[in-house]
Amino acid sequence: MKRAGECKGGDQTLRVGLFGGSFNPIHMGHLRAAEEVREAQGLDRILFIPAALPPHKRGHQLATPQQRLEMVRLAVAGNPFFRASDIELRRGGRSYSIDTLRELRQRFPRWQLYFILGTDAFSEIHTWKEFESLFELAHFVVVSRPGTPVVPLPRLLPVVTRRAFWYAANGLELIHRSGHRVIFQPVTGFDVSATAIRRKLQHGHSIRYLVPASVGRYIDRHQIYRRRSGAS
Ligand code: ATP
Repeated sequence: MKRAGECKGGDQTLRVGLFGGSFNPIHMGHLRAAEEVREAQGLDRILFIPAALPPHKRGHQLATPQQRLEMVRLAVAGNPFFRASDIELRRGGRSYSIDTLRELRQRFPRWQLYFILGTDAFSEIHTWKEFESLFELAHFVVVSRPGTPVVPLPRLLPVVTRRAFWYAANGLELIHRSGHRVIFQPVTGFDVSATAIRRKLQHGHSIRYLVPASVGRYIDRHQIYRRRSGAS
């Protein structure tokens, strides 16, 4: 069966970025951060992976998984390095990164995986399922995010896992005993969040230039996020 996003090049040695999120909706902050990580880390590809049921986002006003995937597809169209992946939607239920990493490692053992996330998400990693095992499976690239304080990387690491790491000489990296790295990467600050976008839509305000035009049109057409007046 054909799977969206991942398949091509599955047997090659590739450096593959994984950018997970609820993408409710995907916005320019996500896309620019991914572009800068791709360039800086020399990645061959980045998979954008919408969560089916994001474990940390219960109660948020959520578009359907298919709508969020479709918006990701529209957003990445035209960038040859970016792909939308439906791996978590296919699995269904709550989406845990550990399950996604294990599945990708098993299916594509030759890929080097780089898990991309913002400092806000990384500072909560101790709440993720089997978080200590995550570092056995992938490198982590932690990107700066406006509104989130810049804390030295070692202090962002959960205390219980610190003994599994040592510092790289440049101070911007930690090296896990598995050989995987945790890299801090400052990126151009886009002070935008999906929450702020949903709020604007609820109030009938424009979201132009905060999301790709194709995503704005999709939201408009499908009347997602209880948009009340035409302003995208
Ligand atoms: P919400 O406002 O609904 O919580 P969000 O804007 O934080 O959503 P998510 O889909 O939850 O978006 O984020 C997925 C990943 O993208 C997370 O790792 C998050 O830290 C990162 N991220 C989101 N927005 C930005 C941004 N503006 N700059 C850098 N990273 C971001």
